Amino acid sequence: MLKTIDIDNLVRPNIRNLNPYRSARDDFEKGLLLDANENSLGAPVRNQLELHRYPTPTHNKLRKKIADWRQVDFENIFLGVGSDEAIDLIMRIFCEPGQDSIITTPPTYGMYKVSANINNLGVKEVLLTESLQLQTGKILEQVDDQTKVLFLCSPNNPTANEMKRTDLLKLVSQFPGIVVVDEAYIDFSKQESMAGLVQQYPNLVVLQTFSKSFGLAGIRLGIAISNPEIIRYMMKVKAPYNVNKLTAQTALDAFDNMDLMKFNIEKILEEKEYVAEQLRHADEVEKVYPSDANFLLFKIKNAKEIYQKLADRGVIVRYRGNEPLCEDCLRVTIGMPDENIRFLKTLKEVLV
Ligand SMILES: *Cc1c(COP(=O)(O)O)cnc(C)c1O
Repeated sequence: MLKTIDIDNLVRPNIRNLNPYRSARDDFEKGLLLDANENSLGAPVRNQLELHRYPTPTHNKLRKKIADWRQVDFENIFLGVGSDEAIDLIMRIFCEPGQDSIITTPPTYGMYKVSANINNLGVKEVLLTESLQLQTGKILEQVDDQTKVLFLCSPNNPTANEMKRTDLLKLVSQFPGIVVVDEAYIDFSKQESMAGLVQQYPNLVVLQTFSKSFGLAGIRLGIAISNPEIIRYMMKVKAPYNVNKLTAQTALDAFDNMDLMKFNIEKILEEKEYVAEQLRHADEVEKVYPSDANFLLFKIKNAKEIYQKLADRGVIVRYRGNEPLCEDCLRVTIGMPDENIRFLKTLKEVLV
């Protein structure tokens, strides 16, 4: 089954016909700027970034940097306030509230459903298999005229494993709507990013973020990589000045120190092996799931109780036992070496 995708046709008519807001900085970025009601006298805090001026709406310099790093073109890059903004925008561009639906594959990242609920969209859920992989056939069976977006996550949160690339490719080429592949954890995995395929598949949107491998969750910067047509729609619908100057400058600075970023990733992966090994040695731990991310999912008897006891001792992990296929599961993020040791030691204490 081969399909041709007409992106314009998938877009909600009101968005297709939208006349976007034109901000002052869309017209001029230099000159005697008396066009935006800014405070020319400056801010009461010292800064190097002319924070009394609005940021650029487009952040082309940063988009170029990210594009070079991911080996795509700068027209393939959208920047948002976290990937969470991109998730919401994709729904707002393609899904008619009260009418259209998305597909998710639980257990997976909770934001897809929350965002769909906020936008009053239907959510069709097709569980992962027992081995935590995609049921491609079942997913495609769920498609009707109102199914507009499929959300996939690889490596997946909370299960930590990557989805098979052949399954991702099958879905991208056969799903008759937008396929979002959330790659928040891609830099921790050996799997090749799908970003290189956005020219080949016009319906593919790859999400990445500065929150995990870059260690910059605090600046709230997310990336969507897609073909220029979808990126243009995202730029059109976003708030004019969504990404602020402090965030953009911090991200640019991060690119000057990629050696440290890569070093930290390696360190986290080493530590993860150690923590996984130690967990496997504990009799009470029934299973440590294979991980391609910076966290571990493990199954342990009385998980809820253990979660609570850990919290009472100041060690906070995530209880995931309410998710399908994750009965009695806890999710622990890999921390600094001493933090990992404290986690393991405290776990041992609450298990006796
Ligand atoms: C952490 C995470 C994100 C990151 O979201 P941001 O809004 O960019 O911080 C996205 N997707 C998944 C699956 C995550 O686990």
